[in-house]
Amino acid sequence: MVSPPHALVIPYPAQGHVIPLLEVAHALADRGFAVTFVNTEFNHARVVAAGAGLEDGGRVRFVAVPDGMASGEDRNQLVRLTMLMEEFMAPRVEELVLASGESSGAGGKITCMVTDYNVGSWALQVARRTGIRSAAVWPASAAVMATLLGFDKLIEDKIIDAEDGSALGDKPFQLSPDMPLMHSAHLSWNCIGDHDQQAALFRYLVEGVRAIEQCDFVICNSFQDAEPAAFSLFPNVLPVGPLLTGERNGKAVGHFWKPEDEECMSWLDAQPARSVVYVAFGSFTMFNRRQFEELALGLELSSQAFLWVVRPDILQGGAEHDYPEGFLDRVCGAGGRGKLVTWSPQQRVLAHPSVACFVSHCGWNSTMEGVRNGVPFLAWPYFADQFVNQLYISDIWKVGLKAVADESGIITKEHIAGRVEELMGNADMRERVEAMKKAAHESIQEGGSSHGNFDTFAEGMKKA
Ligand code: UDP
Repeated sequence: MVSPPHALVIPYPAQGHVIPLLEVAHALADRGFAVTFVNTEFNHARVVAAGAGLEDGGRVRFVAVPDGMASGEDRNQLVRLTMLMEEFMAPRVEELVLASGESSGAGGKITCMVTDYNVGSWALQVARRTGIRSAAVWPASAAVMATLLGFDKLIEDKIIDAEDGSALGDKPFQLSPDMPLMHSAHLSWNCIGDHDQQAALFRYLVEGVRAIEQCDFVICNSFQDAEPAAFSLFPNVLPVGPLLTGERNGKAVGHFWKPEDEECMSWLDAQPARSVVYVAFGSFTMFNRRQFEELALGLELSSQAFLWVVRPDILQGGAEHDYPEGFLDRVCGAGGRGKLVTWSPQQRVLAHPSVACFVSHCGWNSTMEGVRNGVPFLAWPYFADQFVNQLYISDIWKVGLKAVADESGIITKEHIAGRVEELMGNADMRERVEAMKKAAHESIQEGGSSHGNFDTFAEGMKKA
C-alpha cells in the first residue's frame, strides 16, 4: 500500500499562531494528508488542559518538543522564545523527519514541512537538508508580509535602518498607491517592545525572508479581495483565507484557555439581534490598572449590552482584576447587561446574530474573524502588526473606527462609550462589512480563489 503524503506542521509557539496553523493542518488532513503537528511541550500541555481539540480520532498526530525555556519562565518574552527555538527545537524536528516511517501507525514517512514563517529559517533549512518539500505559512496580513519581503527597498529609501530595522525619521511611506500610508515606527519589528534585542530580531526576520525565497509555497491567511494591492506586489504569496480558525465542526480546537462556551452562547441567545458589544483583546494584550478601569467604566457608560473577555493574566504584573468600585454588582450581576468570561469561543461568538460590534486589539486572526462574520470594529491596537491592521480596518476597508488615546495616553470612558454608540448606528459601515463578509465567504467556497489556492498548494505538496 502506498503511504499518504505526510506533512509536518510547525506553528510559532503563541496562541495566535497555533490556532491558524492547526486549521491548516486539518485542511491538509481533509485533502488526504497524514499530519504531524509540533507544539512546544508548554503549549501542548495548555491545549490538553483546555480540552481543546486534541481528541479528534487521530486525524492529526500531536508531538511536543521542548522550547528551551525553564519551567515557570514567562513565555510572553517573545524575542527570547524566538531565539531559543533554533537551538532547542531544530534538532528535535530534524530527528522527527529522519525517524519518520520507522514506526508503524505514525503516518509513515514525513514528505513535507509546512512551517509558520515566524518559526524562523531553521525549519526550512531542516526541510532542505532532509530533502522534503517545504511551505511557509504567513498567518498575518499580506500588507505586513509585504513590509518584510520589501525590506531591501525600505532600507534603500532610507525609511529604516539596515542594521536593526528601526525607524529613520517619521515620514510616512506607501508600498503601493492602493495601500495605506504607514509609519516606520509601526512596522511589526519596531513594536514588539524589546529594544535590547531589536537588531537580533530584525536579523532573524531578514533571514526568514531569504529562506522563504527558496521554499515551494508561501500561503497567507488573507483573501484576494481584502488586500489586492499587497498580493499584486508579491504574486507568489497565495491567499488561502480567511481560515475558519479556532473551531472544527462546532468544537474548539487549539485554544490555550478553556472557552466558556455555555456561558457565552446561552447568554448571547437571550439577547436581541445586533445588540451586544463583544470586547476581546486576544491572547497577549495586557492593560495597566488605569486603562482597565477606564474600559470597564466606558462599557458601563454606553447603554449597550456587552460580552467582555477578561483573561486571567490581562493585568500588567499579574495583578488581580481590579474592577471599579461596585462595577460588578451594578453591571454584571443577575439581570445586568454585562457578561464577563475568561475566554470565549470567539468564532462562534462573532457569528452569533446578537453581536453588533467588536472592540478588538486588531490581532490578525481577530481581524479576519470579524470580517468573515460581518462585524464592525472599534480598533484598539497594542503591538506588533496590530497598528497596520488597524489602518486596514479604519482607512482602507472602512469597517471600523479607531480608538484614540487622549494626551495622557489613555482611551477614556467617554471616548469608548461614544465610539461604541457611533458604531452601532453606522449603517454605511454595516453595509461595507457585510460586503466583505460576502467576499470572504465566496473566496473560501469551492470555486473561490482562496479555496483554489489551497488546493494548488496541497497538490503541489503531494509531489515527490
Ligand atoms: N480567541 C478566542 N477567545 C477569546 C480571545 C481570542 O478564541 O476569548 C482567539 C481568537 O479567535 C483568535 C486568537 O484567539 O483566533 C487570537 O489571535 P489574534 O491574532 O487575534 O491575537 P493574538 O492573540 O495573537 O494577539
